[in-house]
Order: sequence, then C-alpha cells, then structure tokens
Amino acid sequence: MKLANYLEGRWQEGEGAGIALTDPVTGEELVRVSSDGLDLGAALDFARASGGAGLKAMTYEARAALLGRIAEVLTANRDAYFDISLRNSGSTAADAGFDVDGAIFTLKTYARAGKVLGGGRLLKEGARVALAKTEVFQAQHFLTPLSGVAIFINAFNFPAWGLWEKAAPALLAGVPVLVKPATPTAWLTQRMVQDVVDAGILPPGAINVVCGSARDLLDHVGECDVVSFTGSADTAARIRMHPAVVAKSVRINVEADSVNSAILGPDAVPGSPEFDLAVKEIVRELTIKTGQKCTAIRRILAPAAVAPALAEAVAGKLAGMTVGDPRSEAVRVGPLVSKAQQAAAFEGLAKLREEARVVFGGGEGFVPVDADPALAAFVQPTLLYCDQGLMAKYVHDVEVFGPVATVLPYGDIADAIAMARRGCGSLVASVYSASAAFLAALVPAIADLHGRVMVVDGTVGNQHTGHGNVMPNCLHGGAGRAGGGEELGGLRALAMYHRRYVVQGSPALLDALSADAVDAALLGA
Ligand code: NAP
Repeated sequence: MKLANYLEGRWQEGEGAGIALTDPVTGEELVRVSSDGLDLGAALDFARASGGAGLKAMTYEARAALLGRIAEVLTANRDAYFDISLRNSGSTAADAGFDVDGAIFTLKTYARAGKVLGGGRLLKEGARVALAKTEVFQAQHFLTPLSGVAIFINAFNFPAWGLWEKAAPALLAGVPVLVKPATPTAWLTQRMVQDVVDAGILPPGAINVVCGSARDLLDHVGECDVVSFTGSADTAARIRMHPAVVAKSVRINVEADSVNSAILGPDAVPGSPEFDLAVKEIVRELTIKTGQKCTAIRRILAPAAVAPALAEAVAGKLAGMTVGDPRSEAVRVGPLVSKAQQAAAFEGLAKLREEARVVFGGGEGFVPVDADPALAAFVQPTLLYCDQGLMAKYVHDVEVFGPVATVLPYGDIADAIAMARRGCGSLVASVYSASAAFLAALVPAIADLHGRVMVVDGTVGNQHTGHGNVMPNCLHGGAGRAGGGEELGGLRALAMYHRRYVVQGSPALLDALSADAVDAALLGA
C-alpha cells in the first residue's frame, strides 16, 4: 500500500514505487510513501489562499474549539495509533502513549488556553506611544497572524506529538499547516491527518501532509511562511542556508540535537531522596522510547564521591529491564526505529567508548527477547563511566540517539558548571539537590545554555513532570547546538505565527484598528 498525500484539498499519490516503511523488529515492509511528481508549490499556494482565509475568518476562540474537536477525533482513534506505533516504530504501549497521548494532551491544553483570547482576530501589544507634543499623533504595536503557511519538517521519533505540538499553536493563530514527517515513521502522522480530514473539522487547505522526500518544497517558501524544523543539526544547517529561505528572510525555528545533563548536588548522597529520585529518572530516561528523545539524559554529572554508587544503582535497575519485541508481555524496552538508526547508535557508542568504560550493557553477548538480531534494530541499554569529564570531547559532543548515557564525576561546582556548559546548548538539565547554596550558584550559571532547568528535591518527590517530558505550558527549546529555537510555552508559542508591526496615526484610527484586537500580554499569562 502506498500512503496518499493530502495537498490542495485532495488525496494525491506520489509517482513511482516509493520508499518502504518497515517494522524495526521483523524487518517486514509495511507501507510505502512517495512525494514524486507532486506540485508542492501549488500545494503551498492553495494552503495560503484557502486554508489561510478559512482559518482567519474565525476568531481565536472559534479556532481553539477546533483544536478540542481534533483532540476528540484523535482520542477516538487511539487504538489504531498504538498499533501503527508498535508496527512502524517498535513502540511498547508506554512509548506509544508518550507520543500519542502527549499529542492529545497538548491539543487539549491549547484548546483550553486559546479560549482566553476570545473573539479577537489580532493582538495589540503594549500601551499607545505618544509621538507628538499633543495627543493627535500616536503609535500602537500589533501582532497579526501570518498570511503564509506553517511548514513543519519533522523528526522520526515523535510522529504524533511532533505534528500536534506545532500544529496546535499554528492553527490557533490562524495559520494553515503543511507537515512533512520523517520518512521512516511517516505512517502515524499521515493516518492522524487522514482522520482529521475525514472528520471535516478544518477548512480546506488548513492541514496538509506530504510523505517522502521534501524535494523542492523549500524552493516555494514565501516571506510570510514559517519553517519549523526538528531533526539533526546537519539538516538544520542545510535548511537555514537554502537559497529561497535566505532570499526571502523566511522565519525558521530549529529544534536539533542536544546532549542533556542530569546533575546531582553534593547532598544527593546514597540514602537521600534526591539520590533515589535521580536514579529513577535516569533509568526512565534511558529506557522510555529506547532513549530516542531529543530531551533524554545523555550525561550524568555526579560528585566524585557519589558517582560510583550512582552508576551501580542505575546499572542494577537496567539489569532488570527486559529488552525485545514489544509484542512480548515482559518487554519494557523496544528497538530503535530502523537499522540505519541502530548503525548510527553503534557508531556513536564506539566513539564514547574511546573515552569511557562500560558499567552496564555495551552489546557484547546481548540477545533481544523474541527477535532476530540480524533483522531487528535493537541497542542494549548502556551506561558508561568517564573519569576525565573535563578533558573528554565525545561525551559532550556525540548524541547517541538511543539508550546510552555516561556518568561524569565532578570535583566541585565549578567543574559541574563547566561540564554542563560543554554541551554547548541543551534543551534541558535536571538537577537533584535540596542545597539552596548549590542551586543558587548552579541554575543561573547554566541558564543561558538550557531552555529548561528542572530541579527536584525531596519535597517535590515523584510529583515532578519528568526530565524528558515536554509540558505544553512550558518552553521547549535550547540555545546553540539544540537549535536556538523556541516552541510551546503555552500561548507564547503564538508569537512565532504572528508578525509584529506598528501603526502611527491619529487616536481615532488606532481605536478603529484595535476593534478586533486582544491584549498580547495574554500570551504570557
Ligand atoms: P534528520 O535526518 O535531520 O531529518 C529530519 C527531517 O528533515 C526529516 O523529515 C527529513 O526527511 C528531513 N530532511 C532531510 N534532509 C532534508 C533536506 N535537505 N531538506 C528538507 N528536509 C530534509 O533527523 P532525524 O534523524 O529524523 O531525527 C533525529 C534528530 O532529531 C536527533 O538528532 C534528535 O536530537 C533531533 N530531535 C530534536 C528534537 C527537538 O525537539 N529538539 C525532537 C526530536 C528529535 P527524510 O526523513 O525524508 O529524510
């Protein structure tokens, strides 16, 4: 079966045999995708004209209601999504839930939040600015929804959440979307779009999906489009430098690689709640989605006196995890999504092993449950230990996109800060400490390189939302190698889909232009 693409308000099949999507456990071919022969320029024109007009005819509140209806449709089809996640991504039920339920939760959050913007159609920012000696000539800043398309080029690891965490704020802003999912796992994204199209919720052209190669998509971008990319730093650089993107100053948002840290404070000693909470979270981060999360813990910074005990505790828990075909009852950790990803993970692991020794895993003698290692894409969960963290290069640089993390002992807080910063920009750091002095020194010292810092102590306990869990009402994004982008953060995300402008004129004109405007301060409320 070849999956159809939804463009110009109709389903269109790409030409040729297409590219096969496979089961990462059995290697079986599942479906095919192709974007060959499609007119992507016409697709973007239709989305801008039809989808854009249809969405902008509504108020923010009306579009928020659409998001609620999309969430209902996705909820009704949840079982089908879990089945596709199992077959195409090798996801356990918990892994599929992380992606699918995360998508539905995000849509519901925006449906609720968007109501606050009521009957408005644009945003008014700040107070009137006096420009003359009398009041006759003033200025008002506005934010207006973009007249272009929100183009999402997405990564393979979140085919559900990756679409809807971007689409929710874009659609709420009144901007039509076109998603190009990563080829290896495009099926789930395509199926979700199909269900939403079939339900007739959105105006024609408001949602579009193209599966397979992006081909000439970026040749057709316009100055009022926005490209939101999630994936590797290499592809991000190519997209940023695309001639049409450069020539038209197209707005780009990038979420890329990240070598995130978990940091234990000096008080997180064995027997303390902070130590136990760190162990639990590190194991969870190593195993959920088989470590295929941009936010996953890759580096574990611990006081030198505590690091060996920490490594032992994490290794002990990993030893109890069954890895194999997620169709087997006992399995807790599935495969990577493809043989290509497995090969990339092995390559990265080999680099890390030049600087770090294996505490647990490593792959030698590893046999997955109910799977043929020759066909399947498994990587054994692996914990490494690097004594010379400050001198090391690869552990701060190589993101093994799988179940692999490295313990790095540190001497004092200055070393911990220096090592965290060696990630050169990360999405998240989690800190396990109740020491006010340690936190007061550490958090501000890493803040400019980390989009999110999660601090856990005994009073927070198990009520924290998770190191790797992206909450829709909190910022997601990081500086430097993490891409420099910003997503989510509640209604703040709408800013990317609006353009700021200022009108200078008479108070009467500014009153008239403000009639449909709501206060932009609500974005940060
Ligand atoms: P990738 O190879 O860079 O691919 C990402 C997307 O870009 C895919 O849809 C891919 O399409 C497309 N693409 C590739 N070349 C392109 C080009 N020249 N023009 C336009 N599009 C192009 O990354 P990946 O391997 O799928 O994803 C893994 C990476 O994503 C990891 O490094 C991870 O850290 C990062 N990630 C980051 C976040 C975050 O929020 N920061 C979230 C998830 C993942 P094809 O699949 O068709 O090649």
